[in-house]
Amino acid sequence: FNGSKGHIAHADAVASNDDRRIASSEQVPKKKKVVLLGTGWGGMSFLKSLNNTNFEVQVVSPRNFFVFTPLLPSVTCGKVEARSIVEPIRNIIRKKNVNISYSEAECVKIDPNNKKIYCRATIDSHSKGEEVFAVDYDYLIIAVGAQVNTFNTPGVMENCHFLKEIDDAQKIRKNVIDSFEKASLPNLSDEERKKILHFVVVGGGPTGVEFAAELHDFVNEDVVKLYPNVQDLVKITLLEATDHILNMFDKRITNFAEQKFGRDGIDVKLGSMVTGINENEISTKVRGNGEKTSTPYGMALWSTGIGPRPLIKEFMKQIGQGNRRALATDEWLRVEGFGNIYALGDCATVNQRKVMEDISEIFRKADKDNSGTLTVKEFQEIIDDICERYPQVELYLQNKQVRNMVDLLKEAKGDAAKESMELNIEEFKSALSEVDSQMKNLPATAQVANQQGAYLAKCFNRMEECEKNPEGPPRFRGTGRHRFHPFRYRHLGQFAPLGGEQTAAQLPGDWVSIGHSEQWLWYSVYASKQVSWRTRALVVSDWIRRFIFGRDTSG
Ligand code: FAD
Ligand code: MG
Ligand code: MG
Ligand code: MG
Ligand code: MG
Repeated sequence: FNGSKGHIAHADAVASNDDRRIASSEQVPKKKKVVLLGTGWGGMSFLKSLNNTNFEVQVVSPRNFFVFTPLLPSVTCGKVEARSIVEPIRNIIRKKNVNISYSEAECVKIDPNNKKIYCRATIDSHSKGEEVFAVDYDYLIIAVGAQVNTFNTPGVMENCHFLKEIDDAQKIRKNVIDSFEKASLPNLSDEERKKILHFVVVGGGPTGVEFAAELHDFVNEDVVKLYPNVQDLVKITLLEATDHILNMFDKRITNFAEQKFGRDGIDVKLGSMVTGINENEISTKVRGNGEKTSTPYGMALWSTGIGPRPLIKEFMKQIGQGNRRALATDEWLRVEGFGNIYALGDCATVNQRKVMEDISEIFRKADKDNSGTLTVKEFQEIIDDICERYPQVELYLQNKQVRNMVDLLKEAKGDAAKESMELNIEEFKSALSEVDSQMKNLPATAQVANQQGAYLAKCFNRMEECEKNPEGPPRFRGTGRHRFHPFRYRHLGQFAPLGGEQTAAQLPGDWVSIGHSEQWLWYSVYASKQVSWRTRALVVSDWIRRFIFGRDTSG
């Protein structure tokens, strides 16, 4: 044999087998095994973009389909069918030339020292679903998402609906329709009917707001025709603990949404904290004066945010990330401290490198002639690398509305700038001193997970090439050798559907617009973002069907 050491060792291990087998395993080097946890936005996007046939991929996820989550709220009231927004993972795998297998199971433990994970099959049948099996990996990609966060509020788990998975949306839909049927039964007092038809949404984020809007539209467009006797008894309440709904959006959108909901008769209660909920009543406390109230309700949706899954909590403890809310990775999406474990999406957070930590090194590298000062020319040569490695710099420039870094430096130098544009290290530091304050955690959105999955696939696609040639940007490496440019999020804007065929859009550059044409923009963006032509066709035909025939209220 003239193979490498690794191959000889492998041949030794199988020496007891016949020569032909050894020869064949010699010719085909063993593929590196990538194990991917999760078939949500992060996982699906990784799979779709991966095309390096030198890897063998095993996907482990309790869900054998991908869910297009932005349309989940549309499923709750029958605007879109559940089937239309899911894509079987095997449909996605089938189209790939990469060797990918799938196991319907959940990972229950990660053992990074032995490069193994432990899984439990989740297929709920008479089969032995409780058995745990181990899977080896060379690279592990964690994209398990997050779970709902009840903040340990008593009664939430037992009495509230959530909107995270396709089952949740279907349950909500059934429950909404059941509520109208129940309230239409004879022998009920108006009080009882009112209680049944009191819908409470907890949490004024995008999901809660969209659900409230969907429900309101449903009542106005369909209930009026189908349940005319009870339509006046319907009440929708939106409880938000902070001072405003849609906090992550521009003020103009927040204001518009609050006013529109006011006109629509949706009761938005701001500064209202839920302290507990039982079968019949929801208890709240007003922030500030501490006034407590309990209100009878029929159905409640809890959508106040997310927290880490038990698997991730446990893993963080194991690797000394103790009390974090998400797994910390570097900008190459590698879990801190591990070269072969990656994490992305809602379960992870990117720890961005601070400029100030590396400021002396940056200065030294930029100061090519070792003069102890930077000239404009020296500086300009390094600007692109700085912006690439430290995206916060560009953000800072944008926010200060300074065209480029040279302007920023001039500012730092003050009047002295007129005489010479050479900077010493102190002036350089002061120019960049506030840059790091621009660093923000990336939001837990499909947009982020989707971009991260595609980015990571690109890294894997170019793995060999990059291993041979680890140079290339960035020149400032915080730690170790990096093979690929760091992950960079590009915000494409976000929507907030507000009901009545009106949507608020906030596009990059804080371009805000609200109205009916934005609703059409929303339709076209979400149609184009579908992962397959099949789901695209289904979603669009659902929309058309609803326009013509209204919502389907069987359930
Ligand atoms: P997920 O998409 O949640 O996927 C996690 C995957 O991991 C799932 O397949 C799950 O089954 C699997 N899994 C769970 N546990 C395990 C385990 N132990 N082992 C193996 N696999 C496991 N974002 C936007 O950008 N725009 C929107 O309009 C938008 N609307 C939304 C509306 C709703 C109702 C919701 C709930 C979310 C919305 N989001 C939106 C957020 C977006 O869905 C998430 O940020 C995104 O799904 C995160 O992707 P992920 O891959 O990290 O996790
Ligand atoms: Mg995923
Ligand atoms: Mg998903
Ligand atoms: Mg994240
Ligand atoms: Mg110099």
